[in-house]
Amino acid sequence: MSCKVLYGKPVSEHIKSELKLKIDELSDSGIIPKLSVILIGDNPASKIYVNSKHKTFINMNCKSEIHNLDKNVSEDEVVKLIDTLNNNPDVHGILIQLPAPPHLNEENIIRAINPLKDVDGLHPMNLGKLFQGKPSFIPCTPYGCLKILEYYEIETVSKNIVIIGRSNLVGKPLFGLLSQKFQIGNATVTLCHSRTKNIEFFTKEADIIIAAVGVPKLVKSNMIKDNCILIDVGINRIDDDSKKGYHIVGDIDFDSVQKKASAVTPVPGGVGVMTVTMLLYNTVNSIKV
Ligand code: NAD
Repeated sequence: MSCKVLYGKPVSEHIKSELKLKIDELSDSGIIPKLSVILIGDNPASKIYVNSKHKTFINMNCKSEIHNLDKNVSEDEVVKLIDTLNNNPDVHGILIQLPAPPHLNEENIIRAINPLKDVDGLHPMNLGKLFQGKPSFIPCTPYGCLKILEYYEIETVSKNIVIIGRSNLVGKPLFGLLSQKFQIGNATVTLCHSRTKNIEFFTKEADIIIAAVGVPKLVKSNMIKDNCILIDVGINRIDDDSKKGYHIVGDIDFDSVQKKASAVTPVPGGVGVMTVTMLLYNTVNSIKV
C-alpha cells in the first residue's frame, strides 16, 4: 500500500495566491493589512515563530510590527499596549505570542484584545462562536488542519475522527470545528487526552487521527487501522549530534505509520507552514471594505 505524504507547502501557496489578489485590491484602496505581535521575554522558540510570521507578512506586502516586551513586564502594561493597538485603525490583527511568562495571566491578556482584531481566534468570544458553529476567527493551527483536509479532498462527513490533545489552542477548537455541520466537519469526533485510558481502543477505530500532544512519535502503526489518514500537529525538538544540535519530529511515528496509513502529514513540512498562512488569511480577511 502506498501512503501519500500531505505536504503543507502547496496548500499554503494556493491560499497565498488567492490572498495576494485581495492584498493588491486593498492596497489600491490605500489599505495595507497590518499585524501587531506582542512578544514577552526572550524564549528562543517564540522568537523563531514571531520572526517567521513577520517575514511572511512582509513578503506578502503586508505590514508587521513586533512589540518585544521585557520578561518582567506587568499585566497592566501589556493590557495598556493592547488597548493602544485596539484603538489604532491601522492595526488589523493583534497576536500575543504564547506562552507568556508565568507571572502573567494569559486569559486576562487574551481577553483584553478586541475580538474583531483577535486573528489568533483565542478570545473567549471567538471560541464561543466557534462552538456555536458561527466562527469569526478560527484559531490558525486548527484552521490549517482543515485547509489541508480540504485541499487534499479528504472526506470528513460521517467519518470517525480521533483528536489527541485537548488544548484551547489546537485540540478543543478542532473538536468544535469537525463536529459542526460544516463541509469539512460533520464527523463523529472523539477527543483523547492525557487521562484517556487505552488510547489505542479509540485510534484503532479512527478514519482520521489528528495528534496535537507534544509527545514525540506517540502514534505508531500498531495503534491505527488500515488506510487511516493522519494529521500531525506536534513539533518536538530532539537533541542530536548534528551541526544544529537537534532535529524536529512530530507526535506521529511517520516511518512506522506509512506501512498502514493512506496519508500522513510530515513534520516538518506539514501543518507547521499552515499556521502562519492562516494567520495571514485571518488578518487579511478581517478587513471589511
Ligand atoms: P498542550 O501542552 O497545551 O496540550 C497537549 C495536550 O496533549 C493536552 O491536552 C494533554 O492532555 C494531551 N496529552 C499529553 N500527553 C498525552 C499522552 N501521553 N496521551 C494523550 N494525550 C496527551 O500542547 P498544544 O499547544 O496543543 O501543542 C501540542 C503540540 O502541537 C506540541 O508539540 C506543539 O509544539 C505543537 N504545536 C504545533 C503548532 C503548529 O503550528 N504546527 C501549533 C501549536 C502547537
